[in-house]
Amino acid sequence: MGIKKKEPGISNPSLRNASDFYTIPLEEDYILAEETLESSIDIKTSKQPGWFYPDLKLLSFKEDTAAILNSNDKTSFTLHLKVEPRKLMVSCTCGLQVEMLCIHSFKALSLLLHFDGPADLKKFMPGGAAQTVLDNSKYFETKTGFRNFFNPKAAMGAVYGISEPLEGFSIEDALAMPAPLPPKKQIKDMAMCYIIMVSGRKGLLPFLLPCLGKLNKAGDHIKGFGKFLSGIQKEHDAWLTEEQRTLNSLCLQIWKLVEKLPNELIHEDMLYNGTDDLSKLLDLWHQAFPLLMRQPVYKHFYYKPRQLKGRPSKRYMQKINLKDAAPLIQFKLTDKGAFKQLELLPLINGKEIRNHKIFDKFFIYENDNIYLLSSLRDAAMVEWMKKSGGRITIFKNQFTQFENSFLQPLKKYYELR
Ligand SMILES: [Zn+2]
Repeated sequence: MGIKKKEPGISNPSLRNASDFYTIPLEEDYILAEETLESSIDIKTSKQPGWFYPDLKLLSFKEDTAAILNSNDKTSFTLHLKVEPRKLMVSCTCGLQVEMLCIHSFKALSLLLHFDGPADLKKFMPGGAAQTVLDNSKYFETKTGFRNFFNPKAAMGAVYGISEPLEGFSIEDALAMPAPLPPKKQIKDMAMCYIIMVSGRKGLLPFLLPCLGKLNKAGDHIKGFGKFLSGIQKEHDAWLTEEQRTLNSLCLQIWKLVEKLPNELIHEDMLYNGTDDLSKLLDLWHQAFPLLMRQPVYKHFYYKPRQLKGRPSKRYMQKINLKDAAPLIQFKLTDKGAFKQLELLPLINGKEIRNHKIFDKFFIYENDNIYLLSSLRDAAMVEWMKKSGGRITIFKNQFTQFENSFLQPLKKYYELR
């Protein structure tokens, strides 16, 4: 134990009464360092046995002074602490004659250091933690000890100014951590959605447009829509997800192809110019489809291109569910007596799609569900049957010819039931 020579100014050759305040000068404002405490006791007093780990109980805070019951075995004294920026004033009711601190004060303050490193004495300032604890004692642990009397009951969590678990950190430190998230406001009230645009006879092949939706208060439903193509501008880029960026790019690529292609899959242009672009187009849809499954998707009917300059119209729009099962295309031939009828039999996981099915280019709709066809050949066959009014009727006298010219080629690729 380092016993130091008394510093000038504290030195007092005559003994003092421990009940009077003894002033310990602090090297740093409100900080009691271990060396400072150890140089505040005379050699003789420091060698006194006992008073190890005294029980400490906060009694009161009056006239800027904290009173702490300081007990060991069956003996108790009251320790008084008074704090100023560069001073700690200490007294003990034992009334012993000492040069500096009495053993009771010294051991109690040692305990404070034991729990608190260089002890932060601000707790014992007027309006500090000690006073708060006394004014609100039912919210704090009643066990004795320096550590315990600043210990709030579990239900209080951390108590501001008293039991902060992250002392030394400011909230700014935590908030300065990297956060590549979009600004909160935009996440909360806006959401990207995607709209599959389908047309009547004069329009284009189906294409996909991004659109910025305005969310309801709960943030779970889009209640309004921005213009078509809203959400792709630079200002929104920061909060788009990687998938949304990919989708926006796919929208553009789909548009570039759709713009130059005829609006039908079975078209004379295909005979002369080939189907490369059409294959690319279907491939883009296959890239977009799995990404779209995680976004709100709508189908929008349009009949005039200038509609695309405005906002989506709720009248022509339907929320749809994308399904990742690919329809299996088969055909069914039914004998109706005077004639036979050939119909399309699209199956999903082995079951026929029956309800309100609509065939449209690359897609089959069933109520609010949409399926993407696997191949251009499937799409061409679906379109063939759609143009045929849904079924082909063959009278008996024509059947042999139909079988040779139509069914035989068809059966090379498709199952006929
Ligand atoms: Zn004492």
